[in-house]
Amino acid sequence: MKLFTVRLNFHGDLDFFLGSKARGRIVERNLSEKTSVKDVIESCGVPHPEVDMILVNGQAVGFAHGVADDAEVEVFPAGNKRMYQTEKRLQTTEVSKFVADGHLGRLTRNLRLLGFDVAYDQRADDGQLLDVMARQNRALLTRDRRLLMHAIVRHGYSPRSQNAEEQTIEVIRRFNLFELIAPFTRCLRCNVPLEDAAKADVIEKLEPLTKIHYEQFSRCTGCGRIYWSGSHFEKLKKRIRMIQAAVAGRSRK
Ligand SMILES: [Zn+2]
Repeated sequence: MKLFTVRLNFHGDLDFFLGSKARGRIVERNLSEKTSVKDVIESCGVPHPEVDMILVNGQAVGFAHGVADDAEVEVFPAGNKRMYQTEKRLQTTEVSKFVADGHLGRLTRNLRLLGFDVAYDQRADDGQLLDVMARQNRALLTRDRRLLMHAIVRHGYSPRSQNAEEQTIEVIRRFNLFELIAPFTRCLRCNVPLEDAAKADVIEKLEPLTKIHYEQFSRCTGCGRIYWSGSHFEKLKKRIRMIQAAVAGRSRK
């Protein structure tokens, strides 16, 4: 039996996933049989949807590439565009529909506020999340790295932060969503697009002061909830401006 050593160097913020035993960004694995580079990387705690490029001894390879000898492996995260050209990238940024796990309710709300389609059911189990992801071609958002390592996950992301605003910025950057932001176009409660509604059509559902002070309304085509630019609207606009400014600021660097 031949023993060999694979030395992995994790770039960018992939060190987020490494255990405390890792020395900085370097992990060494001693192996005795040919192993796919994907399995070697995931054995270090890094889920494959987080990996956008792999170099084995300087050569770009795919996830299925087998390692059978001593090797130096460089692993790059998504969104690190300056470092290399596009032909060997393993992830796409062409996904703008998501499914979020039950712990990401506030992130879901923020993304819907910005107009993004996010399937969310607080009670969904792992199987249901993977099913919605695969059937509807959504990217999986979860901080459960084991779930993200599931073989059928093609697109996914684990928010690094525990803060919903920071998570929102992370997702917009990871999937390159900045140009697609369309605030107040989707129901925060049921994820369905809003339609413009004439005041006359919604007036009987409005509170007296709302009837007096507001002229423009939209309505959820799913649950029928009426949206207008009331006092909550200013608060939400402020949150959107903050998110937009943070995304623009960071992507200019
Ligand atoms: Zn609704």
